[in-house]
Amino acid sequence: MRIGSSTDIHRLEPGNQLIIGGVTIPFYLGSVGHSDGDCLLHTVCESLIGALSLGDLGKLFPDTSEEFKGIDSSLLVLQVMKEVKDKGYKVLNIDSTVFLEEPKLSPHIMQMRVNIAKLLEIDIDCVSVKATTSEKVGIVGRREAIVTQSVVLLDKI
Ligand SMILES: [Zn+2]
Repeated sequence: MRIGSSTDIHRLEPGNQLIIGGVTIPFYLGSVGHSDGDCLLHTVCESLIGALSLGDLGKLFPDTSEEFKGIDSSLLVLQVMKEVKDKGYKVLNIDSTVFLEEPKLSPHIMQMRVNIAKLLEIDIDCVSVKATTSEKVGIVGRREAIVTQSVVLLDKI
């Protein structure tokens, strides 16, 4: 078995979309990023990359590349999943946390889990997405950023 973890942070600014775990959430602030800014899918992706010791997200998908500008982050996960399968592994489970002051994510958590389960080809029971605020403290608390963390476990096929 192999374990991987990842943390990501994106600035929040008006005029950007807020996409978390493949779910577009209506809000006056959005996540700034070279891709679609999906902070959660980035840690999903990078925890897989970490489990396989392949470097980091920026190494595989450079933010200087036109190819990845505005790209749907689901496509990045699918590309990494191909690598996971090519190396003879499958995902056992994943546990993620989203740190965001506003808006409330509870109405969207189930759809995020559905999206991630589909991408990782696992049961929804094996996908955990938790959401928490920062109690109005720090960059998350001041609504300046979204932070996500993921831990994933892989097993040999
Ligand atoms: Zn990111």
